[in-house]
Amino acid sequence: MNKNETGGAYFIALGGGSNIGAKMLVLVFPREKMIFIFDCGIGMLPKNGNADNIYLSDLAKFAELMAMHPGFRVVLMLTHAHMDHIGGVPLLKKLYPQIEIRSTEPTAGVMEVMCRDSIKIRKGSDLPEHYTEDDLVRCIESIHIVRSADWIDLKHSGFMVRFEPAGHICGASTVLVKTPYGIFADSGDISFYDTTTVRGASKKLFDQVRWLSIESTNGDVSIEDPETVMSELVKATLDIKRNKGNSLIPGFANGRGPDVAIRLGRELQKYGINVWSGGLLRQVTESQSKAHWGSDRRFRYSYHRGKMGKPVFNLEPENVRWVHGYNFGDIVDSSGNVVVIPNGMVEAGYAQDFLSEWAGDRRNGIFIVGYQAEGTKGRELLGLKPGGKITLTSPINGHSEEITVNATVRQFRFSGHADGDQLADWVHRMNTHDGRSLDKMILVHGNPNGQEGLRQKALALPNSPKEILIGKNCEIIKL
Ligand SMILES: [Zn+2]
Ligand SMILES: [Zn+2]
Repeated sequence: MNKNETGGAYFIALGGGSNIGAKMLVLVFPREKMIFIFDCGIGMLPKNGNADNIYLSDLAKFAELMAMHPGFRVVLMLTHAHMDHIGGVPLLKKLYPQIEIRSTEPTAGVMEVMCRDSIKIRKGSDLPEHYTEDDLVRCIESIHIVRSADWIDLKHSGFMVRFEPAGHICGASTVLVKTPYGIFADSGDISFYDTTTVRGASKKLFDQVRWLSIESTNGDVSIEDPETVMSELVKATLDIKRNKGNSLIPGFANGRGPDVAIRLGRELQKYGINVWSGGLLRQVTESQSKAHWGSDRRFRYSYHRGKMGKPVFNLEPENVRWVHGYNFGDIVDSSGNVVVIPNGMVEAGYAQDFLSEWAGDRRNGIFIVGYQAEGTKGRELLGLKPGGKITLTSPINGHSEEITVNATVRQFRFSGHADGDQLADWVHRMNTHDGRSLDKMILVHGNPNGQEGLRQKALALPNSPKEILIGKNCEIIKL
């Protein structure tokens, strides 16, 4: 076969091509009647009355593709369980039951927890229903679990797929597809640093890659070593405790929250400080504790008998205790507590409840550790002057209250995404199909600055990819 042969194969982003939300990348192989999809996520929209607060990938365009290619086999691969990567999967599976889904075990488990929570919240807020609990269960049960980083033979024209640990969060992977024309890799969200619950990605990918789609979230910035940031956070919580205050750390249930909660639990144990957590973070860590993937770093957990005699998952061996309705008041009224709790952008949940109780006291600290999207309470807090006011509205019952923020608000810049230099270095070290360079590198999952920043860094490499393309939604790129 001619080494430039591609069988008319093409790539098209239906979401997350030129933005961060609702990632869905599609590869079509007309000659072999095969379609691959990397992720099917959702994106968040600012609140706007009763209008839907999420957007989906371009499923109308996907319907066109499916109509153009009848009888094609479709394989969907999930890189990890963040909503911008998996939030639309139960809907897609409902619309196209024939789609085969593959993911690691933690991704499937955490996806179930996250999507079930989203059904509950959407019901409570009267938002349109995209899929039911039954749709979700059918979808989860159909997933082919990937247990190792070995190639999986799809028994179809020589196509194989492989999941490579990508750091980022528990279960996250870079996904590779071996085609008759060479290997296509999608980086997924990738991070090279070890964290409390996940090992960083390997700095070298040994597969002979021909085409790469790569995330560009931090393409134009440098990130700090998370260990440095973590020690600053430990010190900040100790300072607050010394002044008889409480520390509130809004944390994502999936990824940053568990990492920070467990690490602080370990670090603060010797000072006799308990770390409190709960809500969705409890369900996510329970699911993670039962699943396995190659980059796991294990944490300790146990079960105790709950009120109804049922076993209740806990992180007490890691010095993390759960907040419940019945102990909430006691924690609020005491001092020296450290609470790491969802919602990570202070849009709902216990994070809002604690904020409303603690924000007024200048001895307290509110420490922001995760990305805060435009229009969220977390972002508003970061822009507030001392003594500023903020209005909290419960997404469940619509109750509103205005609070004054006298507590110290501080941001700690952790990132679960590799920065531009690290990504360029990864591309530099990567093996390629011709031993020289990638044929095409497509920059996706980033804003225009991130994409341009990474493009510049990749252009400067001695083995710069032959073509570097800025991803655009719904634009066909021939392989
Ligand atoms: Zn992610
Ligand atoms: Zn992402």
